[in-house]
Amino acid sequence: MNICVIGTGYVGLVTGTVFSDLGNEVICVDKDAGKIAMLQRGEMPIYEPGLEEMVKHNVEDRRLTFTTDLAEAVKRSDVVFICVGTPPKPNGEPDMSFVEGAAQEIALALDRYKVIVNKSTVPVGTGDLVRKIIETHRKTAVDFDVVSNPEFLREGSAIKDTLEPDRIVIGAPTQQVAMKILELYAPLERPMILTDVASAEMIKYASNAFLATKISFINSIANICEAVGADVEQVSKGMGCDHRIGAAFLNAGLGYGGSCFPKDSSALVTTAEKYGYDFRLLRSVIEVNQQQALRFLDRLRQAMGGSFEGKVVGILGLAFKANTDDMRDAKSVELIANLLAEGAQVQAYDPIAIENTRRIFPQICYAKNAYEAAEGTEALVVVTEWNEFKQLNMERIRASMKRPLLFDGRNIYDPVKMRRLGFEYHCVGRTTAAFNTR
Ligand code: NAD
Repeated sequence: MNICVIGTGYVGLVTGTVFSDLGNEVICVDKDAGKIAMLQRGEMPIYEPGLEEMVKHNVEDRRLTFTTDLAEAVKRSDVVFICVGTPPKPNGEPDMSFVEGAAQEIALALDRYKVIVNKSTVPVGTGDLVRKIIETHRKTAVDFDVVSNPEFLREGSAIKDTLEPDRIVIGAPTQQVAMKILELYAPLERPMILTDVASAEMIKYASNAFLATKISFINSIANICEAVGADVEQVSKGMGCDHRIGAAFLNAGLGYGGSCFPKDSSALVTTAEKYGYDFRLLRSVIEVNQQQALRFLDRLRQAMGGSFEGKVVGILGLAFKANTDDMRDAKSVELIANLLAEGAQVQAYDPIAIENTRRIFPQICYAKNAYEAAEGTEALVVVTEWNEFKQLNMERIRASMKRPLLFDGRNIYDPVKMRRLGFEYHCVGRTTAAFNTR
């Protein structure tokens, strides 16, 4: 099939590349000429494991091309995927201007029947909105259909998630239109949910809101564990064995960040409000998440004598999670901004995300590795759970620090071991009392 993918970000580039790998002819479009130039040179504008090899292979086989010419790409395609960003506005609503802009441009290029598939995460009703925009702006009365096909990939494992999704959701106006998109995904042999457009749009928000709820729930339990002397890791293990609960997303830490959970949970609250429903549960989930990193920072400040003024703090991990370079709503940004505002000097390390962080914080020191980030610090804070931090030579780290204060925001180290090595070790929801009982 001839496919056009609009937006070559984390979703669009991976989706287009995988569709080309399945044998389709794919044109990926972006209005960012810099990104397209990079892709045409064979360079990746984002970090995603396995992506570069798959792009290269499909470009060589001429199934995958890149352009800034949206009209031409739409004209050459039967199916057009919208994969543009829907970033949050200050009031929590998603900014729909990129989706609206893409729909207008599609309308102007519409020359024969096409299926327009919305893959961006958008509020219920966007299918109708896109339909209306295209009807208003198309030059001739060409027929078209609008489908919702929300994306569930996770950055860091996006290729695998696209090839082996838990489910594929297709929200279409008719069975016949749904079958056209189903045909595209059929080679993956994964469970398909065929539904109406509004339900498909809601499945995406409900799923992300539920995952965010799990995280804020376990973080709240962790905070209680700290007070009562229980160990949240034991608690989540005990909870996760119940198949009705499941073990995933029960890791206590600094809270969720990234380009999806914070914005999607806020967007669902504002959609509910718009329709007269106060989604109190989700508002609390968001509030717990906003407090979580600040609580951790309070504990750090207390451990450092009540002030960060003039102190050197090391940060391990900057990306919002491991295996990505994405800094959108990363917990590191919140922590570093607070540390700097309170007079601390920050030296940070991340395996992939340093260049993206430099654009946000040009004034901090960037280390070449974890050891350099720890050197001379009065506290070392683990912010992202990169695998390479799990097996560091911690004796070397401790010896190089001015004070061996280790704040593990992702619970990646064994508390007993860290204390034995001489660290003043702090983590989330695992108390000293609990360590002693092991
Ligand atoms: P992104 O910001 O990485 O990429 C979006 C791209 O769209 C940008 O390169 C931008 O230049 C381009 N663009 C915007 N308007 C355009 C236009 N009119 N023509 C051509 N290109 C245009 O975004 P992303 O992370 O890939 O997310 C895209 C959507 O998918 C969002 O709605 C997001 O919520 C959703 N989503 C993201 C993830 C994720 O993990 N990143 C997962 C699932 C769903």
